[in-house]
Amino acid sequence: MLTVRQVGEWGSPLQLAQVYQRLEAARCRVTPQRQAVLHVFSRHLGEDLSAEEIRRLAAEDREPVGLATVYRTLGLLCRVEVVTRVLGDDGLARYRLNVESLDPQHLLICVRCGDLSELSLEWLRDLSDQVRGATGFHVLDQELRLFGICMSCQASHRRGVG
Ligand SMILES: [Zn+2]
Repeated sequence: MLTVRQVGEWGSPLQLAQVYQRLEAARCRVTPQRQAVLHVFSRHLGEDLSAEEIRRLAAEDREPVGLATVYRTLGLLCRVEVVTRVLGDDGLARYRLNVESLDPQHLLICVRCGDLSELSLEWLRDLSDQVRGATGFHVLDQELRLFGICMSCQASHRRGVG
């Protein structure tokens, strides 16, 4: 049985759980302000946002966070590698969600549009057990990335667009 879940919309419970785990590991609480900043990132996936933009977007989301708190939160999220700081051509620091470090472990990645889907196969879930049974190797973690062309890119190619 093959099931594919779109993960283009960042902010699935799994991904947020990973972020919260990292914050906890760094002995940081998940405060409403920190959640508000994460929500902004999840709604503006793939965009580089300045601290001021994050402050404005959080206010628009009715989750107001002061600029100083935005900066502190960004510093923290950078430290736990949830967010990456990038310096723009204009010299302004912007922040980008480090989606790659939070991806589910089994991914289908479209090389044309960059779409990410999580691949969930029964046998993949049991792979570690099977490997251990067959070889005695104790698997600690597993990761699989398959690169290709997603269905919608294939469709638009057939229609002669894109
Ligand atoms: Zn695609």
